[in-house]
Amino acid sequence: MSKIKVVPCSGIGKVFGLMARESALRVTDVLASDICETACLAHIVSGDDEARAKVEGLNCISVDGCPALCAAKSIKASGGIVKAEFRVVDIMKEHRGKNAGDGTALSEEGWIITDDLADRIAAKAIEIAKEVE
Ligand code: SF4
Repeated sequence: MSKIKVVPCSGIGKVFGLMARESALRVTDVLASDICETACLAHIVSGDDEARAKVEGLNCISVDGCPALCAAKSIKASGGIVKAEFRVVDIMKEHRGKNAGDGTALSEEGWIITDDLADRIAAKAIEIAKEVE
């Protein structure tokens, strides 16, 4: 089975984008590296054949910062199968009033929330992997 692609949005300069990227990397590098890998959203959006082949027909999890859903939409446009969509804005609703940091650095609270998000993504990835076994 191909590894599940965990694709964060770019969100450069936005704390929600940074949280999306850091949570995705924690999943692909630490929590579920045996079943997940990441792919560069900018490369996917470029639409070249090599980039398209990274997601086309493959199970993906998108991790977006906000409701614009750039990662989810781009994966779908490239033929990827979005098995789950995560949005940082949703998890932040559970942490109203908390300061997660800024677009360049997460605060201590921001890292706690990001790690929580990563745990949820990894749990979903394990569920998806079991489904397709
Ligand atoms: S989903 Fe939102 S934060 Fe992420 S790249 Fe798109 S506009 Fe930026």
